[in-house]
Formats: sequence, structure tokens, C-alpha cells
Amino acid sequence: MSWNSKEPRWHGENRTNADPASFVINGVEFDRLRYGEGEDDSDLPTCDDCGVPRGRRHVLGCDLEPCPRCSGQAITCDCFYEDD
Ligand SMILES: [Zn+2]
Ligand SMILES: [Zn+2]
Repeated sequence: MSWNSKEPRWHGENRTNADPASFVINGVEFDRLRYGEGEDDSDLPTCDDCGVPRGRRHVLGCDLEPCPRCSGQAITCDCFYEDD
């Protein structure tokens, strides 16, 4: 299993909750970072990928959502996300 493929990690229709407030990563629950809270977030008023305004959670699967565990890119980092 590789998280580095181009396949999106999440497929919204397969999840019971399309906008979870937290992720379970490697067995530990982490609050998701909102746009503007990530170290590498831009200064734009809305996310450059999913379009949410600052202070809101990214749309699930957004390229720019930081991983709350490793600060990498949530959709491609090496952390193990439990899906539900
Ligand atoms: Zn986003
Ligand atoms: Zn990570």
C-alpha cells in the first residue's frame, strides 16, 4: 500500500462523515488544521485549492490541507489515516 500514488486518499462518497473535525492517525486522534493554521499556508483570503475562507476546515482531500501529525501534505504524507 502506498500513499504516494496520485490516487486521492479519500473518496467522499465512501465516508460516513465528509467533514470530520479530527482525523485518527496512527491510532491517535488529531484535530484537523483549519486554513490559515498550517505553517505553509498562503496569505490568500481563501484556500488556493479548495476555496474555503481562512479559519474554516479544508474540503476533505484538499491538496493544501496540512497533516496535523507531521505538518506534511495530508493527502500524501506517510501517516496512517484510519478512515472511520
Ligand atoms: Zn484547501
Ligand atoms: Zn502526516
